[in-house]
Amino acid sequence: MAGENDRVIYVDMTDQSVSIQPFPQDWKLLGGRALSARILLEQCDPTCEPLGPDNVLVMAPGVLSGTTASTSGRISIGGKSPLTNGIKEANAGGNPGQDLMKLGYRALIVKGKPADSGKRYGLRVEQESVTVVDADAEKGLWNYALCEKLLADEDKNASVISIGPAGEALLAGASVACTDQDRERRPARHAARGGLGAVMGSKGLKWVLVDPQKAKTRRPEDTKAFMAKNKSYTSDYLGGAQMFQTGTSAFVQTANMLHTFVYKNRTEGQSPDADALDGARIVEKFEERGGGMHNCMTGCIVKCSNIVHNADGDYVTSALEFETITLLGASCAISSLDDVAELDRLCDELGLDTIEAGAAIAVLMDSGNLDWGNAKEAKEILRNVADGSDRNTAIGNGAVAVGKLTGHARVPEGRGQAIPAWDPRPLKATGVTYATSAMGADHTAGLIINPGLDKDDFAQASQESQIVNAATDSSGFCQFLQATIADIAEFYSAFYGEEVTKEQVADLAWDCMSDEWKFNEAAGWTAEGDKLSDCLVEEGIGPDGVFKFDVDAETIAAAKVRFEPTDELYGTKASA
Ligand code: SF4
Repeated sequence: MAGENDRVIYVDMTDQSVSIQPFPQDWKLLGGRALSARILLEQCDPTCEPLGPDNVLVMAPGVLSGTTASTSGRISIGGKSPLTNGIKEANAGGNPGQDLMKLGYRALIVKGKPADSGKRYGLRVEQESVTVVDADAEKGLWNYALCEKLLADEDKNASVISIGPAGEALLAGASVACTDQDRERRPARHAARGGLGAVMGSKGLKWVLVDPQKAKTRRPEDTKAFMAKNKSYTSDYLGGAQMFQTGTSAFVQTANMLHTFVYKNRTEGQSPDADALDGARIVEKFEERGGGMHNCMTGCIVKCSNIVHNADGDYVTSALEFETITLLGASCAISSLDDVAELDRLCDELGLDTIEAGAAIAVLMDSGNLDWGNAKEAKEILRNVADGSDRNTAIGNGAVAVGKLTGHARVPEGRGQAIPAWDPRPLKATGVTYATSAMGADHTAGLIINPGLDKDDFAQASQESQIVNAATDSSGFCQFLQATIADIAEFYSAFYGEEVTKEQVADLAWDCMSDEWKFNEAAGWTAEGDKLSDCLVEEGIGPDGVFKFDVDAETIAAAKVRFEPTDELYGTKASA
């Protein structure tokens, strides 16, 4: 049977011991986000201190990662978040997810913490062995230098999961980096949200190196059906609209038109710098500067990732996304794409979520402690984010921490996590997602870009989008591929050689969300907290300030009670 020899790696960082266990077969349809949620619900005390020994760090590739299914190799990083104090899953591309799965590892579960918080360790995952090694020599290294050092003498197929100085300093906005599939294997793909880099740092784990050598892709039970589905899906995708072929950065003008290209810490929904920050310019400059579109993981047919070069033609970063341009650019009144690209690179180097870091800097500016548009000082702050100073530490800990430090009340957030670019005031159903998702304010949990939606439809639209995205983040498909629940069911059926229905896949996604809500309830979350900050409710944006997040509590609560599944649900595309 396909996957019958799958295993789980357990690492106890208290004594640096490793054990390999068989993967429970009744979990075979759980991967990525759903697997992470189930492991955390069963093996992690929800009341634990996020940076203490009882938190559990999960690295779980999606069900289809490591197979030949197009754009399917993503990995979920999970744990209790130091930012939201609830369960968190952050999803990343790059190649580590595929590499773990090619070796038959469905999850890596890290528990405990070393007695000496100054120690650093690495984990080598190879075909024959999994070992914890001393990594003190890599202490404090920025992500790019770290990966260059680690991979210098490794097989060309090896990949790395790592944290930068922000994770080592236990900052609540810290991300987990994954190397991409390019020849340089850059740590440019981040499981960014929720501070899981700090959880990894609290365990003294600086890096995980996965070396699949010549391990083969995972073999489906029904190879013929799997290949046929993959072929037809790929050709349909490539023959279709391909809306992400110039990257998410190309959405700037649309977002500005919708009053969700937020300016100056969301005091306005449109930016006067929308032309200067239009990500379409990145693509226009490929010819003059170099760079181009690429795929961040092997087998991705979407290729949404831009490689950004500076005016001298040197590599700066990849990918520069719409979310980053909005939060580190427009919301801070920083109007140069080159500055935003450098800030993005610094976040990748230090290991920081660009959304949280951008929101934190915008709050600092809004509080009067930094001039709007001061890109030079913003870069200086990020370079020194792990220096232990009050201001820089607060930036690394996120928007709410900066609000507390400065006494500034205008902090747009949900459950302690900064609001992503897509603003919940013109896009109210998206706001319902931010208020109800166990992930806190996170657009990848269920984005609905439909400003004309009737208010009676907010709850159901949000719930359906959350179900589709939970199914996608559990499958290993990238959300940008926009696979539907029906597609995922067909792939699962062919992989396991037994029928998996679309209804089952939707139920698995709902179970995933239910596991997450259960965890958070036990962690102390209550329904009263299912809301967004006052500034989003009280302050309008758009013409005459018409857009406010004025969705009532009853509608928000309705998104957490399951609606009867509709046929449209199974054909709805993932949104990110
Ligand atoms: S669609 Fe973009 S983010 Fe997703 S795997 Fe491909 S390149 Fe990476």
